[in-house]
Amino acid sequence: MLAKSVQDKMNDQIKHELYSAYFYLSMAAYLESNSLPGAAHWMRLQAQEELGHAMKFFDHIHDRGGKVTLQAIDQPPTEFNGLLDVFEKTLAHEKKVTSLINDLYALAVQEKDYASQIFLQWFVDEQVEEEKNAELIVQQIKMIGDHRASLFMLDRHLGEREAAEE
Ligand code: MG
Repeated sequence: MLAKSVQDKMNDQIKHELYSAYFYLSMAAYLESNSLPGAAHWMRLQAQEELGHAMKFFDHIHDRGGKVTLQAIDQPPTEFNGLLDVFEKTLAHEKKVTSLINDLYALAVQEKDYASQIFLQWFVDEQVEEEKNAELIVQQIKMIGDHRASLFMLDRHLGEREAAEE
Protein backbone atom coordinates (compact mmCIF):
# COMPACT_ATOMS: atom_id res chain seq x y z
CA MET A 1 0.00 0.00 0.00
CA LEU A 2 1.24 3.45 -0.92
CA ALA A 3 1.65 6.04 1.82
CA LYS A 4 -0.87 8.84 1.25
CA SER A 5 1.93 11.40 1.00
CA VAL A 6 3.57 9.41 -1.83
CA GLN A 7 0.23 8.79 -3.54
CA ASP A 8 -0.62 12.52 -3.46
CA LYS A 9 2.75 13.53 -4.87
CA MET A 10 2.53 10.86 -7.60
CA ASN A 11 -0.91 12.17 -8.55
CA ASP A 12 0.67 15.64 -8.80
CA GLN A 13 3.38 14.11 -10.99
CA ILE A 14 0.77 12.66 -13.38
CA LYS A 15 -0.45 16.23 -13.85
CA HIS A 16 3.11 17.49 -14.40
CA GLU A 17 3.83 14.79 -16.99
CA LEU A 18 0.54 15.48 -18.79
CA TYR A 19 1.32 19.19 -18.72
CA SER A 20 4.72 18.38 -20.24
CA ALA A 21 2.93 16.54 -23.07
CA TYR A 22 0.65 19.54 -23.56
CA PHE A 23 3.59 21.95 -23.49
CA TYR A 24 5.55 19.99 -26.12
CA LEU A 25 2.47 19.50 -28.27
CA SER A 26 1.97 23.27 -28.21
CA MET A 27 5.58 23.64 -29.36
CA ALA A 28 4.93 21.07 -32.11
CA ALA A 29 1.97 23.16 -33.32
CA TYR A 30 4.08 26.34 -33.32
CA LEU A 31 6.95 24.64 -35.20
CA GLU A 32 4.58 23.04 -37.71
CA SER A 33 3.09 26.43 -38.58
CA ASN A 34 6.55 28.01 -38.80
CA SER A 35 7.94 25.70 -41.50
CA LEU A 36 10.04 23.52 -39.16
CA PRO A 37 8.36 20.13 -39.70
CA GLY A 38 11.37 18.14 -38.48
CA ALA A 39 11.48 19.92 -35.12
CA ALA A 40 7.67 19.63 -34.97
CA HIS A 41 8.02 15.85 -35.41
CA TRP A 42 10.64 15.77 -32.62
CA MET A 43 8.27 17.62 -30.28
CA ARG A 44 5.32 15.44 -31.20
CA LEU A 45 7.33 12.35 -30.18
CA GLN A 46 8.45 14.15 -27.04
CA ALA A 47 4.79 14.79 -26.17
CA GLN A 48 4.03 11.08 -26.71
CA GLU A 49 6.85 10.11 -24.36
CA GLU A 50 5.45 12.40 -21.68
CA LEU A 51 2.07 10.69 -21.98
CA GLY A 52 3.93 7.42 -21.42
CA HIS A 53 5.57 8.88 -18.29
CA ALA A 54 2.16 9.88 -16.91
CA MET A 55 0.89 6.35 -17.54
CA LYS A 56 3.83 4.81 -15.67
CA PHE A 57 2.74 6.74 -12.56
CA PHE A 58 -0.91 5.87 -13.27
CA ASP A 59 0.01 2.17 -13.30
CA HIS A 60 2.36 2.34 -10.32
CA ILE A 61 -0.31 3.96 -8.13
CA HIS A 62 -2.78 1.21 -9.08
CA ASP A 63 -0.20 -1.58 -8.72
CA ARG A 64 0.35 -0.44 -5.14
CA GLY A 65 -3.31 -0.32 -4.22
CA GLY A 66 -3.53 3.47 -4.40
CA LYS A 67 -6.09 5.81 -5.96
CA VAL A 68 -5.46 7.88 -9.08
CA THR A 69 -6.99 11.36 -8.95
CA LEU A 70 -6.61 13.34 -12.15
CA GLN A 71 -6.19 17.09 -11.83
CA ALA A 72 -6.77 20.08 -14.11
CA ILE A 73 -3.96 20.77 -16.56
CA ASP A 74 -2.84 24.37 -17.16
CA GLN A 75 -2.90 25.89 -20.61
CA PRO A 76 0.63 25.86 -22.08
CA PRO A 77 2.19 28.88 -23.84
CA THR A 78 1.12 29.07 -27.48
CA GLU A 79 3.63 31.58 -28.83
CA PHE A 80 7.38 31.11 -29.01
CA ASN A 81 10.26 33.13 -30.41
CA GLY A 82 11.99 30.77 -32.82
CA LEU A 83 13.75 27.41 -32.51
CA LEU A 84 16.31 28.49 -29.90
CA ASP A 85 13.54 29.80 -27.64
CA VAL A 86 11.63 26.51 -28.01
CA PHE A 87 14.60 24.37 -26.99
CA GLU A 88 15.77 26.71 -24.23
CA LYS A 89 12.27 26.45 -22.76
CA THR A 90 12.43 22.66 -23.19
CA LEU A 91 15.71 22.52 -21.27
CA ALA A 92 14.41 24.79 -18.49
CA HIS A 93 11.24 22.70 -18.24
CA GLU A 94 13.17 19.43 -18.02
CA LYS A 95 15.34 20.86 -15.24
CA LYS A 96 12.17 21.67 -13.34
CA VAL A 97 10.84 18.13 -13.90
CA THR A 98 14.17 16.73 -12.64
CA SER A 99 13.74 18.60 -9.38
CA LEU A 100 10.17 17.27 -9.05
CA ILE A 101 11.40 13.69 -9.57
CA ASN A 102 14.19 14.26 -7.04
CA ASP A 103 11.65 15.54 -4.50
CA LEU A 104 9.49 12.46 -5.08
CA TYR A 105 12.51 10.20 -4.62
CA ALA A 106 13.43 11.97 -1.38
CA LEU A 107 9.87 11.44 -0.14
CA ALA A 108 9.99 7.72 -1.03
CA VAL A 109 13.24 7.45 0.96
CA GLN A 110 11.70 9.28 3.91
CA GLU A 111 8.67 6.95 3.83
CA LYS A 112 10.92 3.87 3.48
CA ASP A 113 8.99 3.05 0.29
CA TYR A 114 11.55 0.82 -1.44
CA ALA A 115 9.28 -0.20 -4.34
CA SER A 116 8.71 3.43 -5.25
CA GLN A 117 12.43 4.16 -5.00
CA ILE A 118 13.14 1.41 -7.54
CA PHE A 119 10.28 2.63 -9.74
CA LEU A 120 11.58 6.20 -9.59
CA GLN A 121 15.11 5.21 -10.57
CA TRP A 122 13.91 4.86 -14.17
CA PHE A 123 12.80 8.50 -14.04
CA VAL A 124 16.08 9.64 -12.50
CA ASP A 125 17.92 8.07 -15.46
CA GLU A 126 15.36 9.44 -17.92
CA GLN A 127 15.86 12.99 -16.66
CA VAL A 128 19.62 12.72 -17.22
CA GLU A 129 18.84 11.84 -20.86
CA GLU A 130 16.18 14.55 -21.24
CA GLU A 131 18.49 17.30 -20.01
CA LYS A 132 21.42 16.00 -22.07
CA ASN A 133 19.36 15.87 -25.28
CA ALA A 134 17.84 19.34 -24.84
CA GLU A 135 21.19 20.86 -23.88
CA LEU A 136 22.86 19.40 -26.99
CA ILE A 137 20.17 20.76 -29.31
CA VAL A 138 20.36 24.22 -27.66
CA GLN A 139 24.12 24.23 -28.26
CA GLN A 140 23.69 23.13 -31.89
CA ILE A 141 21.12 25.86 -32.57
CA LYS A 142 23.54 28.41 -31.07
CA MET A 143 26.36 27.10 -33.30
CA ILE A 144 24.18 27.56 -36.35
CA GLY A 145 23.31 31.17 -35.54
CA ASP A 146 21.82 32.88 -38.60
CA HIS A 147 23.03 30.26 -41.08
CA ARG A 148 19.75 29.28 -42.72
CA ALA A 149 21.08 26.29 -44.69
CA SER A 150 22.37 24.76 -41.46
CA LEU A 151 19.02 25.40 -39.77
CA PHE A 152 17.37 23.54 -42.63
CA MET A 153 19.76 20.61 -42.09
CA LEU A 154 19.19 20.56 -38.33
CA ASP A 155 15.43 20.52 -38.89
CA ARG A 156 15.83 17.51 -41.17
CA HIS A 157 18.02 15.82 -38.56
CA LEU A 158 15.42 16.43 -35.80
CA GLY A 159 12.83 14.96 -38.14
CA GLU A 160 14.70 11.63 -38.06
CA ARG A 161 13.93 11.04 -34.38
CA GLU A 162 12.28 7.66 -33.83
CA ALA A 163 9.74 6.74 -31.19
CA ALA A 164 11.25 5.25 -28.02
CA GLU A 165 10.66 1.58 -27.18
CA GLU A 166 9.09 2.30 -23.80
MG1 MG B 1 8.60 13.31 -18.37
